[in-house]
Amino acid sequence: MRVDGTFIGIDVADAIVDDSAIAAKLREVCPVDIYGDAEGKVQIVEGNVDECVLCRLCIDATSPEQVKVLKLYDNEASLA
Ligand code: SF4
Repeated sequence: MRVDGTFIGIDVADAIVDDSAIAAKLREVCPVDIYGDAEGKVQIVEGNVDECVLCRLCIDATSPEQVKVLKLYDNEASLA
């Protein structure tokens, strides 16, 4: 599942989208509320994506294979 803003893209592996524990963790760690966990599924809040502060907390809470933060302004370089 991928959602792009203007500057940042968030790509969450389909394999973890239905994992309620991961969904809750992502919602908890992101300081700018990019993730939601309604109904136990990972959600990406499109309107907040460009607020990303590149803190890596979502990657550290999962893995670089499960969550990618893409810098669209830098040839989609992945924060990892
Ligand atoms: S890098 Fe930080 S601000 Fe950006 S989506 Fe991940 S947790 Fe949120």
